[in-house]
Amino acid sequence: MKRNWLGLVGPGALALCFATSLAHAAERSVAQRVEQLMGQMTLEEKVGQLNQLSGKEFTGPATDKVRSMEAEIRGGGVGSMLNIKGVADTRRLQALALQSRLKIPLLFGLDVIHGYQTVFPVPLGESASWDLEAIEESARIAAREASASGIHWTFAPMVDVGRDPRWGRVMEGAGEDSYLGARIAAARVRGFQGARLGGVESVMATAKHFAAYGAAIAGRDYNAVDMSGQLLHETYLPPFKAALDAGAATFMNAFNTLNGIPATGHAGLQRDILKGAWGFKGFVVSDWGSVREMVVHGYAGDLADAAAKALTAGSDMDMESNAYASSLAAQVRAGKVALAQVDDAVRRVLTKKFELGLFDDPYRFSDAAREKAALGDPRHRQAARTIAGKSIVLLKNEGGALPLRRGLRSIAVLGPLADARRDLEGGWIVKSNAASMASLVDAVRAAAGPATKVRYAPGCDVACRDTGGFEAALQAARGADAVVLALGESWDMSGEAKSRADIGLPGRQGELFEALRAIGKTPVVVLMAGRPLIFEHVAEHAPAIVYAWFPGSEGGHAMADVLFGDVNPSAKLPMTFPRTMGQLPIGYQQYETGRPVRDEKNIVYKSAYIDAPNTPRYAFGHGLSYTSFAYRNLQVSQPTMGAGDKITLSFTLANTGQRAGAEVVQLYLRDPVASVVRPLKELKGFQRVSLQPGEERTVRFTIDRETLSFFDRRLAWTAEPGRFELMVGAASNDIRLAQAIDLAP
Ligand code: BGC
Repeated sequence: MKRNWLGLVGPGALALCFATSLAHAAERSVAQRVEQLMGQMTLEEKVGQLNQLSGKEFTGPATDKVRSMEAEIRGGGVGSMLNIKGVADTRRLQALALQSRLKIPLLFGLDVIHGYQTVFPVPLGESASWDLEAIEESARIAAREASASGIHWTFAPMVDVGRDPRWGRVMEGAGEDSYLGARIAAARVRGFQGARLGGVESVMATAKHFAAYGAAIAGRDYNAVDMSGQLLHETYLPPFKAALDAGAATFMNAFNTLNGIPATGHAGLQRDILKGAWGFKGFVVSDWGSVREMVVHGYAGDLADAAAKALTAGSDMDMESNAYASSLAAQVRAGKVALAQVDDAVRRVLTKKFELGLFDDPYRFSDAAREKAALGDPRHRQAARTIAGKSIVLLKNEGGALPLRRGLRSIAVLGPLADARRDLEGGWIVKSNAASMASLVDAVRAAAGPATKVRYAPGCDVACRDTGGFEAALQAARGADAVVLALGESWDMSGEAKSRADIGLPGRQGELFEALRAIGKTPVVVLMAGRPLIFEHVAEHAPAIVYAWFPGSEGGHAMADVLFGDVNPSAKLPMTFPRTMGQLPIGYQQYETGRPVRDEKNIVYKSAYIDAPNTPRYAFGHGLSYTSFAYRNLQVSQPTMGAGDKITLSFTLANTGQRAGAEVVQLYLRDPVASVVRPLKELKGFQRVSLQPGEERTVRFTIDRETLSFFDRRLAWTAEPGRFELMVGAASNDIRLAQAIDLAP
């Protein structure tokens, strides 16, 4: 079995591990231990296991609230805490739980979203790498660090498909595509959980937010979702299913309503699909206060009613609503909630505590020596730099503006994000490394070497409300051989509750670009953000644009690596970039209308905007390299697929440029005639191929019935006989080769 230094093994090996009879024996004994424990529990103690509290207060002085929470833990009234971290604090609270009658240990959960101590690119940025191994590795490192600090459980990955960049939480996901999202979801779960739960360097993963949270109407966070069954099953659910198949120990439900029913109280989602059809054996935690919010939604009359509705619908653990703790036992006694359903929830939670080994050693994750070693491991920062380099997208590069040459006399690095450190880390971090980080200016200085003078001026801050600092920036640019301008969002402009109605460059940032252009110093632009932004003027006029997202602890160096060509960019957009706000929502998976626009010059009575272009600025899958790739010689192993057949599609990919580079080749499918109209293109495969200059390789994809299947009118997963178009390309709008195949009746 091949493992790297992190002990990463592929999914095949994982399956093997789980399949051993040893695992079955362990499962049996866990089940027995759970039943034995449950036999001793009072109803109140059972409900206590379903109660999760936030430990934020514990970091401050001992207030009355803290004292009452401590008493609740000692009384067996708390099953899990979130927002507690570090060996010292987790040990202290675990000791309280061990004073309870049955000594059931606490579970410590935390939002370890893109790193714990070492911060990796924000998940959307990391997804732009399309590099499943790198993504798994980043989650593995996060797990290694977090688990050493007493954390058992991360509230990640967020696997919500996000198609509207106004929604700030697209930053936390894998973008707009269901297939890419599913592959990345599985990689992240494998990374967090390692070879198996119970490993001391693994944390439980959470697939969140179940379900359809990413489709909030108009991109406004927490907003209602109204969606067809087809879209739900075809697009929004597959990343959850993939997370489950990869072994995700827990799911988190969501704040939104789905077709009028809050996800937290949605039995169709949680009981019928997740625990029923999919056979999920882990537990579901509510989102923060989402049980209580069902009252605000107008779905529950009061907190007790909300508790009853949530538990009955399959929400096992109540995060911070105090709904279960305050009323579930009474609801059971009143006959409003079935004891069997409470038992089922408790059984699920306890099973995970046993699987994690907490009953054998409640402190096994809180290890001071391991914490010190893991948090200071220099390999983690090195990995963060490599992954950030793979995440940075080269959107545009004209006339060889990039890479920057070494040996220039002077470079001006300008703009509000040029010397940023905290912003590079993005939102949802556990600890900031700002003090030990290089900004873009620092990194350019280090990369350029002592012979090159690097000048810096911000021009304005990120909000960029006034132009008072522009002159100093222009002055710095005047004598420079090269000008780099860093624009974009601050870290707290995307993420939860950070929906923006205008996703243009903040304030007057665009004017700074224009002022530089006006003096003949048109800069290379580096953009940082947690979402696709709109920057039409820059897109038109900048010779080169690099999209760095929020690249993490080593983001400064990673950006310099790309600017100087020490890293050849290979990332591809996981989300479509619009040209104007009015195009939103926009994505590559469009359906053909009866009036398609074939030619932008002829839009009369077409499905078109008459006042804006009808194409995106940058399409899903787009991303350039400093080298070039040729695609040729597409072949299929057979033109017709019979029952049970698999077809191999192959083609030659050649590096036709001067540098080594990696290309993410993408396979798209269209089913031109079907009983339900199918999208113009659906991603069905991708591979990251690294080639030396002049090198070529045969790339192969396997097509089977599964590849051709979709949810039909009755939501049955089916493939209909007929013709299918297979397309291979460098982006969803850059198809290089195509071939039709037939599915035999
Ligand atoms: C977010 C979740 C997060 C939870 C706990 C909520 O507001 O929606 O994604 O895991 O808080 O911090």
